[in-house]
Amino acid sequence: MLEITVFGAFDSVGKSCVMISDHDHRILLDAGIQLHPRRTGLLSTPPEGVDDFCEEINSVLLSHAHIDHSAYVPALYRAGYQGLVNCTTPTMDLVEILWKDHLKIEGPHHYGISHIHAAITKTRTHKYHQKFRIADGITAEFFDASHILGSAAILLDWEGTRIFYTGDFNNAKTPYHDPMVYPDPDEPIDILLSETTNANRKMGNRKAATSNLTKSLLKCYSRGGKAIIPSFALGRSQEMQAYLTSDFDSFLQKFPLYIDGMILDMNKVYRRYLNDEWVSPRILMELKDRGYRTPFDHEGLRTIDEVSHTGRRGKKREKLATQNEEAIILTTSGMLEGGPIFDYLRFGGNNPLNGLFIVGYQVEGTIGSDIVSGKKELSLDNGFGEFFDVNLQLEVRKFEFSGHASLEGLIQMVRYSSPSYIYAIHGEPEGQLAYSQALDTIGQKATILSSKEVLHEFP
Ligand SMILES: [Zn+2]
Ligand SMILES: [Zn+2]
Repeated sequence: MLEITVFGAFDSVGKSCVMISDHDHRILLDAGIQLHPRRTGLLSTPPEGVDDFCEEINSVLLSHAHIDHSAYVPALYRAGYQGLVNCTTPTMDLVEILWKDHLKIEGPHHYGISHIHAAITKTRTHKYHQKFRIADGITAEFFDASHILGSAAILLDWEGTRIFYTGDFNNAKTPYHDPMVYPDPDEPIDILLSETTNANRKMGNRKAATSNLTKSLLKCYSRGGKAIIPSFALGRSQEMQAYLTSDFDSFLQKFPLYIDGMILDMNKVYRRYLNDEWVSPRILMELKDRGYRTPFDHEGLRTIDEVSHTGRRGKKREKLATQNEEAIILTTSGMLEGGPIFDYLRFGGNNPLNGLFIVGYQVEGTIGSDIVSGKKELSLDNGFGEFFDVNLQLEVRKFEFSGHASLEGLIQMVRYSSPSYIYAIHGEPEGQLAYSQALDTIGQKATILSSKEVLHEFP
């Protein structure tokens, strides 16, 4: 008899953590944390109740590096977990950076540096489509989920019962990835645990979003402004660099693209894995045709450290934001909740020639979501308890990019894998409802979880 316990993200996005267990084994899929909007003053919250099982869990598998899927892993070791963490090779490099950054931001709220080291030493890496043993009678296999570098959906073969956990997946073509390839329809899935992030959101296509962004950038350039693009450090930022360096080949000489924040660290990991094992051959060919090995080698791309100013990065930012030179600035954080973007808003936010171009999802209650809804007066801090007021005069625009499957993609996954049991997780209640209604039309049924402790029993 199998049981599924969902410790987080059962009716929301954030702190993903699912335990599959039987009499003899407990396997954990993901262990993420939930961030809260800065204005709440709350620290991140852990998946509820997982600590109680840490001494009994046999193995942990990670779908991908995003912190709402991975950042609680070191804390499992603090709570007594002693087993291995299994993930793809790039995911291991990415989580190490993210975990250390999280510790720097929040302090030892969930874990200390020794727990990060314990987790890293206990991590085993795998390639896509290479079955590995988890425990007696249980194997796992990672499928390329096309969401970010190293992202995987996880197939567990549990003494013959096939369980498929999608993690975050994408059925659209993006710069580094082709649409996700679903499991073989000839070997149906027994239990599907599917994300439902975009089930109730109509996302425009990426082609339109990219061409709108390009138009706005050109307009911004022609009026002599700076284009500020806040972006998530991992995933969206590298996509933006790929789009911009391919669309702006000669133009970027005049309108350079400056990169700031943790994006620079993530670029290093992307650079390491830009080969056909981890990214689409399409981007490798495109780069080769244009004479680059990676998008980050484009001569129009510069880092914040290349701004000629002898001061620290804060001073360089001030200079970049105020000097009389057109530029695109790609920087963290993606929801404008902190990081270098504060400096750019502080020194460049009041200039109507500039543009603030938002390319990621903005969670309700974040500064980014306030700005998108038209808020102009902001009070931001400099990280040292000092506040400054900003009156936004620049052009604000939002562009629809998503790293998650559309409703059609979610349904297609079900059609392919014809599961006997389907669980809708990692989505807002409206998304889960939209998903289950869409499944009704193809004669399938999804269970929507409404509490963390719902246990399901399978014969
Ligand atoms: Zn993700
Ligand atoms: Zn996610």
